Amino acid sequence: MTIGSRRDVLGGIGAGVVLAGLGSGRALGAGVGSPRKIGYAVVGLGYYATRQIMPNFANCEHSRLVALVSGTPAKLEQYGTEYGIPKTHRYSYADFDRIRDNPDIDAVYIVLPNSLHAEYTIRAAQAGKHVMCEKPMATSVAECRAMIAACRKAGRKLMIGYRSRFEPYNRLAIELARGGHVGPTQLVTAEHGFPIQPNQWRLDKPLSGGGSMMDIGIYSLNAARYLTGEEPVSVSAVESTDRSDPRFRTVEDRVTFALRFPSGVIANCISSYSSAHNGYRVVGTKGWIEMEPATPYVGQAMTIRKDNQTQSRVLPAPAKNQFAGQLDHLAECVLNGTDPIVPGEEGLADLRVIEAIYRSAAEGRQVSLSA
Ligand code: NAD
Repeated sequence: MTIGSRRDVLGGIGAGVVLAGLGSGRALGAGVGSPRKIGYAVVGLGYYATRQIMPNFANCEHSRLVALVSGTPAKLEQYGTEYGIPKTHRYSYADFDRIRDNPDIDAVYIVLPNSLHAEYTIRAAQAGKHVMCEKPMATSVAECRAMIAACRKAGRKLMIGYRSRFEPYNRLAIELARGGHVGPTQLVTAEHGFPIQPNQWRLDKPLSGGGSMMDIGIYSLNAARYLTGEEPVSVSAVESTDRSDPRFRTVEDRVTFALRFPSGVIANCISSYSSAHNGYRVVGTKGWIEMEPATPYVGQAMTIRKDNQTQSRVLPAPAKNQFAGQLDHLAECVLNGTDPIVPGEEGLADLRVIEAIYRSAAEGRQVSLSA
């Protein structure tokens, strides 16, 4: 693969920012003459927002945290103080639509339970804001379509929080797999799972939309799609859930699913809420590329077997981690007028397959995804 085509595969991440015509930087840390930074409001101050996303604004070039949205006044006070967010830029959910009147907020980052993603994406778009929405994009294809339509109508960007697309090992795996480094891909295996703790919204279907597939199995599915660059034409799934386990009263536990792609590649995938997995392997005619672990917050490891030799591949530490890379990508898209490499359509594509996986498992048959 040539360097020229690498950008095509990676979707132009890190393209230089065009700053013309954007007006001057605003308050909240953008000094005179400093480049315009996109202001984010983080919606939902739970684990992922407060432990991973908010601390990483410090590692961003084009993004800054300017507002907080939470139903808990104590959290608004705690994180507002910690991040220097003035009271005028702290919102409750009831207040949310008032973000429309705050010009410091360019984009919202929705980090709420899955079934709230659609409502807050649509309200944010109607308030004139760009949207970063966590995975899974929503709990149904219909919701995904409504979110895409709302953002399009408002003329605002919609991006899904598929952070692995901004992580160097996963980017290299995509480049190598699609570039035929171990020969044309024949098979992909992908496994994601963890033993889930009881008593949380992930186990409550009205909030989660589903079980392990929605939460962690989506990483296996998304990897199978990004490693092949293809959309599956059929899916066969098998589910196993102990309904007497109080964790699994409303959502599924384990799912295995096989995807068949137009080129003939088969992906064999695992999703689990009762066993730990994090990896994938791309098998070509001349060897394989393995990532184990593949999609954690840190610590990816790659092994390649080619021409009967097995070697670890170690990359230098990136200048920007996957969280900052993801935040800055949407910011660059806003600043440059370009489209995210993981737009709403990417979240919709996963939900379309997840719905087919559920149907296949429930009906005990292969489900076609063509057309
Ligand atoms: P969490 O439970 O820690 O946080 C959810 C937040 O939503 C809490 O602050 C909670 O108070 C708030 N909330 C608002 N309305 C609620 C309601 N009706 N019921 C329950 N909570 C409500 O969850 P999390 O782990 O931060 O996950 C949030 C989202 O982020 C999910 O969509 C999840 O899939 C996603 N996520 C993504 C990654 C990733 O690596 N990309 C990692 C973790 C979570």
